[in-house]
Amino acid sequence: MARTGFYPGSFDPVTYGHLDIIARAARLVDKLVLGVGVHHGKQALIQAETRIALLEQVTKPISEHTGVKITVTTFDGLAVDAARKNHAGIIIRGLRDATDFDYEVQMGQMNGAMAPDIETVFLAASPATRMIASSLVKQIAKMGGDITLFIPREAQEALAKALKPSH
Ligand code: ADP
Repeated sequence: MARTGFYPGSFDPVTYGHLDIIARAARLVDKLVLGVGVHHGKQALIQAETRIALLEQVTKPISEHTGVKITVTTFDGLAVDAARKNHAGIIIRGLRDATDFDYEVQMGQMNGAMAPDIETVFLAASPATRMIASSLVKQIAKMGGDITLFIPREAQEALAKALKPSH
């Protein structure tokens, strides 16, 4: 039976850290669904449609290389509900540090209590991309810093556009 994974996140914007997790998750599943969270009250800088288009573009090489089908969708409720809707038995999350660990394991356990049929798989961040956080990338970009080491070119362009004053 085909194994489907669901990787939820804000991806605001997608970083090389996310791409590392996606590439490694592709070794564990046959299909991977990326869930772009669009929750009320959680304001994103980059529009959901743009975040989806970016994820589709930058994950294409991973899909071509591994043969794993990667699709992108939005969700606005619980990750377990979105995983089930997408026929995924596995939720993928990345762990950078102890802060991620505490939060992610607690959330994974609560999700496990709500949906015992869905397993959360945590992938430890790779050393080269472990320090990357979308929130810091946005702060650096706002202050005119160089973010080329942290996010793909397509995401840099979308971020620059989103930060441009609209007048
Ligand atoms: P969320 O709002 O759900 O935290 P993010 O897009 O910030 O959305 O992160 C989505 C997932 O990717 C989380 O599990 C997070 O820990 C993981 N992640 C983010 N950045 C990295 C990174 N540099 N390395 C590994 N995992 C990461």
